[in-house]
Amino acid sequence: MLRIYNSLSKKKEEFIPNDPSHIKFYACGPTVYNKIHIGNARAFMSADLLAKVLKGIYSKVTYVCNITDIDDKIIDAAKEENLSIKDISTKYFNQYQDDTALLGISKPDIQPFATDYIDDMITYIEKLIASDNAYEKDGNVLFRVSSFPNYGCLSDRKLEEHDSGSRVKVEDFKENPNDFTLWKPSLNEDPGWESPWGRGRPGWHLECSVMSESTLDIPFDIHSGGNDLKFPHHDNEIAQTCAFHGNDDPTSFAKYWVHNGFLNLEDEKMSKSLGNVVYIDQLLQNYKGNEVRLALLSTHYRQPIPWSEDLLDQSHNIYVKLQSAFKEYGVVDGKFHVNSKVAEILLDDLNTPLAIRTMQDLVANPDENIENEIATFKYIFEGSNQDLSLSDVQVNQINELVKERDDARNSGDYERADKIRDKLSKMNVSIKDVNGKTEWEIL
Ligand code: AMP
Ligand code: ZN
Repeated sequence: MLRIYNSLSKKKEEFIPNDPSHIKFYACGPTVYNKIHIGNARAFMSADLLAKVLKGIYSKVTYVCNITDIDDKIIDAAKEENLSIKDISTKYFNQYQDDTALLGISKPDIQPFATDYIDDMITYIEKLIASDNAYEKDGNVLFRVSSFPNYGCLSDRKLEEHDSGSRVKVEDFKENPNDFTLWKPSLNEDPGWESPWGRGRPGWHLECSVMSESTLDIPFDIHSGGNDLKFPHHDNEIAQTCAFHGNDDPTSFAKYWVHNGFLNLEDEKMSKSLGNVVYIDQLLQNYKGNEVRLALLSTHYRQPIPWSEDLLDQSHNIYVKLQSAFKEYGVVDGKFHVNSKVAEILLDDLNTPLAIRTMQDLVANPDENIENEIATFKYIFEGSNQDLSLSDVQVNQINELVKERDDARNSGDYERADKIRDKLSKMNVSIKDVNGKTEWEIL
């Protein structure tokens, strides 16, 4: 019923679950060292979209999204903010929960924390060493990529490509520059755990192999993440898990691999290291959570999103128009109606831009199934928990703007009056002239 593009086979495929009575889906989650930006939110939104569609068609779905709470970036952030590692990861985990909820991203069913799985990771590494898939040197443990014949099968990179002409300095403890860290030593005050290789901490790739298998068992159905995770993160996960189980077939780990495109700002990937980031709280000063959600979903999840004010304004306008059209119908809650046109479109590789256009057409020319169409649309495109009730301060602010607009109109300054109307509209306030008096309502 669902068709989805599989990055492993490089084609759109019919989704055939391992066990239709229990769908299992793992998405790579955040490293909690800072607030998430809208680019990160796109990855979590894409996973949420897929989880919602799966939950709309299958009775039991377990959606896991991990939390990386040990990483060099967290250690650096702790030093910078003069807080403990635990305080940093707790602070930014809570912020991640709040930010995603404001965008209507549902909480995953399971959110495993990496630091709760250290013992499992150590046992995992021991087995990889015993089977010669890994080796230890000076307190470091490396995965030996040459031991896995299918290495790079997801990104289609060949080992030779990494080797030839590499200008990257190879650390002395590596047999081969492609070998990647499973365990590394923790020096001085850096957080660490006792292990057979001394005090240290796990490599990032390892945690997803261990946590996905611990929470879902393998093979599970779908593994997702941003495009940048295909290599090396997901290729390394595949190598570890397959080597651990002595099975070269990557589908013995996860059957479908789903990757979202980047969100770009002025043609460059939004990323903390480039400094071109926009945070969720900044956006929510001017737009509703569901409008930002619509803006993210107005591009197909595999395509890049050129992020801009224009996109947000367009999404705002679409949202306001749809809400006002929806008011004519008694649909309150969202529910996925498999037989609706909107659902049918989403089941074809999650085609959200076409679903939005179809919903716009449907409210203009409603058919007898319109209420189910709206319910399906709401189920996917709405759901922000943003509090819609207004504070006294907001009510006063709106009253003042309405009065300013009235004054501008009375003095013939229509340009200013229109500007204020636009500003009110951005705040989701609609105004009407009733018997010479201006009335307003929140959409
Ligand atoms: P991180 O916390 O850096 O590990 O990133 C969490 C998720 O956000 C990963 O799935 C990344 O691939 C994804 N991501 C990071 N930046 C962007 C971006 N600009 N556009 C889309 N996804 C992104
Ligand atoms: Zn991961």
